Amino acid sequence: MNDYRTKPIGDFITKLADGIWQIELPHLKTQSANVFLIEDEKITLIDSGPPDPFCMDILLKALRRIGYQWTDINLLLLTHPHIDHLGGVAFLPTLPEIYAFKGTQTEMRTYDHYMKRWRGLLDKFASEYPELQGILLSKLSIDWLHSFFPVGGTLEITKEVIDGETISLGKRELQVIYTPGHSMHHMSLLLKQEKLFFSGDFMLHRGPALAHVMGDQVEAFIQSIKRVEDLTIEKVYPSHGYPFSFESGLGRVSSLISRQEERLLNALSDSPKTAMDLYISYIGSKNASIERFGLDFAGADTIIKHLLNKGDIKKEGLYFYRNGFYH
Ligand SMILES: [Zn+2]
Repeated sequence: MNDYRTKPIGDFITKLADGIWQIELPHLKTQSANVFLIEDEKITLIDSGPPDPFCMDILLKALRRIGYQWTDINLLLLTHPHIDHLGGVAFLPTLPEIYAFKGTQTEMRTYDHYMKRWRGLLDKFASEYPELQGILLSKLSIDWLHSFFPVGGTLEITKEVIDGETISLGKRELQVIYTPGHSMHHMSLLLKQEKLFFSGDFMLHRGPALAHVMGDQVEAFIQSIKRVEDLTIEKVYPSHGYPFSFESGLGRVSSLISRQEERLLNALSDSPKTAMDLYISYIGSKNASIERFGLDFAGADTIIKHLLNKGDIKKEGLYFYRNGFYH
């Protein structure tokens, strides 16, 4: 179990550059999530962190340590509507201006609505993969979902931004770059002056997650890569984990789909496999989780559907086959 509750507040704060800070918010249910503070005429935060009063407490204390009260924050930018990055809004003492990518308000609407959508995703998978129904809709998995998502309240976005739009913070400017794939309404933010790239969950340290996507977003993800590949970027600040070079981040996202496809195709090259087998090949047996299965399976499902669409694999009964293999 994490011992973060006893850690001194300074341990959660990293100064990244002049006037730019990272605050790492730990969470028991998921990996810790990063919130970034940019000091300018507008005191700006990127993401709110997970929906947990304890995370909020750390955020407020960290801001105070850096020199701000919560009410000093003018602008909150949300990279994407996933609960570990915007769920914290439900626990904020007051709301600053909130910007998010176009479509976020409709996707998010209310926390209840959001919660129902994820529950709907489990139902959808359960009807597509009846063999997995027991685990998808198990009490454990539903309870996990409910315990993680805050219920009640509305997320009010002040402004929805679009690809290429510039957000002025005063002396500094952030450029919005539409980077869907991990999430439909995902934006990354490029701090133009310093050429720092806040990648959200589009680029992550150990390779980005195409998990948790709704439907086939492989094409969208490939377009996202094209949108960023020619940019000049000094450093990438992901919403989970530690900073890395743009070159290494780009390398990881560019090879992501082929690596994931290969994992599933390799698993299928000697014998047909079930959806559960493919999930384990996708996620790795040590990461497989009964509680999180519904959410993690979304990633495997994305790659499975992509391979089915391309005609590389087929499904008969409970088994997936690699086309052109086995004699
Ligand atoms: Zn995340």
